[in-house]
Amino acid sequence: MTTTPVRVRIAPSPTGYLHVGTARTAVFNWLFARHSGGKFLVRIEDTDAERSKPELIEPILSALTWLGLDWDEEILYQSRRMHLYAESAKKILDTPYGYRCFCSTQQLDEDRKLAQAEKRAPKYNRRCLALSPDEVKRRVDAGEKFVIRLRVPDGDITFDDMVAGAITVKSADIEDLVLARADGSATYNLAVVVDDHTMGVTHIMRGNDHITNTFKQVYLYRALGWDLPKFGHVALILRPDKKKVSKRLGDKDVNQYEIEGILPEAMLNYLCLLGWSSKTDQEIFLREELVKLFTTENLNASNAVFDEEKLISFNKSHIMRKPDGELADLVAPYFVSAGIVSQEELTKSRDYFVRVVSALKERVRRLSDFVRLGVYFYQFNGTYDAEAEKKQFTPDKAELLRLLADRYEQLPVFTKEAAERCLNALAEERGLSKGALIHPARLAASGMSVGPGLYDMLDILTLPVVVSRLRSAADYIDGRRV
Ligand code: GLU
Repeated sequence: MTTTPVRVRIAPSPTGYLHVGTARTAVFNWLFARHSGGKFLVRIEDTDAERSKPELIEPILSALTWLGLDWDEEILYQSRRMHLYAESAKKILDTPYGYRCFCSTQQLDEDRKLAQAEKRAPKYNRRCLALSPDEVKRRVDAGEKFVIRLRVPDGDITFDDMVAGAITVKSADIEDLVLARADGSATYNLAVVVDDHTMGVTHIMRGNDHITNTFKQVYLYRALGWDLPKFGHVALILRPDKKKVSKRLGDKDVNQYEIEGILPEAMLNYLCLLGWSSKTDQEIFLREELVKLFTTENLNASNAVFDEEKLISFNKSHIMRKPDGELADLVAPYFVSAGIVSQEELTKSRDYFVRVVSALKERVRRLSDFVRLGVYFYQFNGTYDAEAEKKQFTPDKAELLRLLADRYEQLPVFTKEAAERCLNALAEERGLSKGALIHPARLAASGMSVGPGLYDMLDILTLPVVVSRLRSAADYIDGRRV
């Protein structure tokens, strides 16, 4: 059992977008924090000054917010903590693990070429580890530039991974890493260790592409005399073609899924199952259920494939679970931005909009589909689906549609049941199948051949609209016939 309160973090580099892999890591860390009553922290790894522009950071934070991954403390920016890293690099110099390296870039290049020619691993040959303290002092006093390196101790190194179990690497395979550059700036691994330690991070869950960094970081914790956090490396997310997901290959920014009408709950649910399982057959989970169920024991080490079709099917399930009113609020911006109806109008006739959303809900896969499938509830310009028109608007239908309109007008009350009874009676009278009237009526009222149940649709549209559309379709058929 964990005794210290859990503190976990997500540490994105400012790339201008939230990659699905980083989003999935954020989901795991957030769920773990919420499950265990701990804290979820955000750190921006912007040591590279070029990258700390707000436009590269803001999309990441907005995607985390959209996913509902709220963080608990102020966001930490590495660019503002460079002094701390410099102090730690100096501290390491005072231990047997740190040393100054005066080798020039040119010298290092030559060493590397020689190593390659001799078929040796191109790692630093420790030339400067052999310098005497006097010589080091002389060169420093003479103003020679140096980097600070960490001497990697001999022997194998093992750490206990929460996902993969014990992982071992031979120290001989790791080169003495640079902690601080000649201008005093810290390198990635030092900054990460200093931050994770000072932030009190207890568990580090991240992609397994960081395992080589972890070995270096474990040495750094030791050199600094700090306790190790627990590490857990999750499998990478692959594309269906088994390549690693990447923006370069056209994989999307998480923000893009919002634009396309994916619900944050669906995205959270789907990402969570890429590398974690509840060990049951259940796949669709609400956020609260995931918080309750998530434990690091159920993380798995095998690579997961990001399948957009599956995400969309999760989206469909989550749409079905949403109460109509809530769904209407989420769908409204799509109608407004498509210029179908104003926000004002939607607010004024909210009940109507909720009914529209409720009627269409079963047929959509994304929030944006509501617009495509429901535009005729707001605008109709008398254009009919070309294929359906050929089939349904045969010349004999003009009279039938007019008759149906007349009978609807004569009904004492226009309800969905009455509309159905009336249509059935007319079909029977004429010795027609119901379908022979249902399909043209649907096309007349909506311009489309698919949609919600016909009578639900007619009921929502209201009698005057239905009658007018039936008559217009009849005129259209007549006109076309001429
Ligand atoms: N900045 C790293 C990344 O974006 C994360 C490093 C970490 O989690 O330690 O992959």
